[in-house]
Amino acid sequence: MTLTLSRPDLLRHESFLNNEWVRSGRTFAVTNPATGEVLADVPDCGEEEARAAVDCAQRAYQAWRRVVARDRAALLRRWHQRILDNQEDLARLISLEQGKPLAESRGEVAYGASYVEWFAEEAKRAYGDVIPQQHNGRRLLTVREPVGVVAAITPWNFPMAMIARKIAPAIAAGCAVVAKPAEDTPLTSLALVKLLQEAGAPAGLVNMLTTSRARASVLADVWLADSRVRKISFTGSTAVGKHLARESAPTLKKLSLELGGNAPFIVFDDADLHAAVDGLMVAKFRNAGQTCICPNRVYVQRGIHDAFVAALSERVRQLKVGPASNAASQIGPLINLRALEKVQEHVADAVLQGASIAVGGKVFESQEAPGGHFYAPTVLTGVTAAMRMSCEETFGPVVPVTAFDGEQEAVALANDTPYGLAAYVYTRDIGRAWELGEAIEAGMVAVNDGVLSTEIAPFGGIKESGYGREGSRYGLEEYMHIKYLCHGNL
Ligand code: ADP
Repeated sequence: MTLTLSRPDLLRHESFLNNEWVRSGRTFAVTNPATGEVLADVPDCGEEEARAAVDCAQRAYQAWRRVVARDRAALLRRWHQRILDNQEDLARLISLEQGKPLAESRGEVAYGASYVEWFAEEAKRAYGDVIPQQHNGRRLLTVREPVGVVAAITPWNFPMAMIARKIAPAIAAGCAVVAKPAEDTPLTSLALVKLLQEAGAPAGLVNMLTTSRARASVLADVWLADSRVRKISFTGSTAVGKHLARESAPTLKKLSLELGGNAPFIVFDDADLHAAVDGLMVAKFRNAGQTCICPNRVYVQRGIHDAFVAALSERVRQLKVGPASNAASQIGPLINLRALEKVQEHVADAVLQGASIAVGGKVFESQEAPGGHFYAPTVLTGVTAAMRMSCEETFGPVVPVTAFDGEQEAVALANDTPYGLAAYVYTRDIGRAWELGEAIEAGMVAVNDGVLSTEIAPFGGIKESGYGREGSRYGLEEYMHIKYLCHGNL
């Protein structure tokens, strides 16, 4: 199967500025991580384009903020329809540049589109309050207003969903956007703005600038310094998130930061073992383990430990590794060599410190895609808190298992991290489920479920996993501020 597009014009080689497709002198190559094949050369934008994008966005914002919610919703609905009309091409683009299996890319398109639909609906529900007055002759009320120009910076693991869940609420709120997709996966985001253009977005409302990794900060520094950019919505590493928080202090921008995680997955003796294994398989191996809510530490109570490891290992051995061009592939390549090396280092470190390999534990040589950065799905046992994989996100198809004894120990282990994004608990004891749900320091806790993300619930973290929420009714608030209006002498 070759991943060709039915609409080749959705594969763009330009950046998108003021509803125009622009090239620049410098370019960088976007490659297929399964094969190393170059898919496109896209502009390596810099200061000039970054400033122009804010100029255009600011102009667009002045008009867009006055467009009534019903009409903002209508644009989002038209965009949503175009995404659905082109869903297969979008899925192929995701698989081509990101490497995930086609079935997962189709899932991501549906997931990303759900945010566009959701915020088309929420656009109409940005209610204010009427505050009961304490003196006659005065009336007090609040209205919600868009914050202004938003800078959106996204990672490569969900090339469509990350863009959609930032741009859709921004448009819904009445903001304009300057965006920079990850250097590994800019093509899906360019296709998305092409569809937004076709849906009738006004010039400058959304501007999508591509840059290489080397010049990401050149572009972002312009946005950080510009006081017209009132908000940054960022998904990516904690290190870059902290940098953005520091550098937006001089202009006091509003921030939404969805940063790294170190999700615990806790299985108690009383859990339904097969449900727990199912939940772990879906939570861990989606996108080859490259999501910020993938379980990064698996704690299994001693009484069920051996049976759990046996059942899990059996499932992991059956996973089919390969390129997205093979419809049977379940685990794609890691995004780049840097990512593959990190997984290798984490496994080597764990083994050196005494962990045992139950399955995998090595690079996977794919006959179908010899140039790809594949890693064999892996289960390790005897993992301890001192190992690198317990402290840092491995971001690969590796399950590190640690045995524990008591509930308090499990909570202490789960919370022994500066991060606090997602957590998973498997137990059939309802009291324990509530206890853990409240005791675990994370923005999201799943009990007896391996799937958390949905457009209808608030996605986000605490501690060094960041702040702000995406999706749900809270997602729109991130792009708005509250204005209090007081009317006296009535
Ligand atoms: P990852 O390690 O997953 O690539 P990063 O935080 O490095 O996560 O990257 C996420 C996004 O942040 C990407 O779009 C990347 O280009 C961008 N980025 C990297 N460095 C900077 C920076 N100094 N300023 C702004 N954005 C950056």
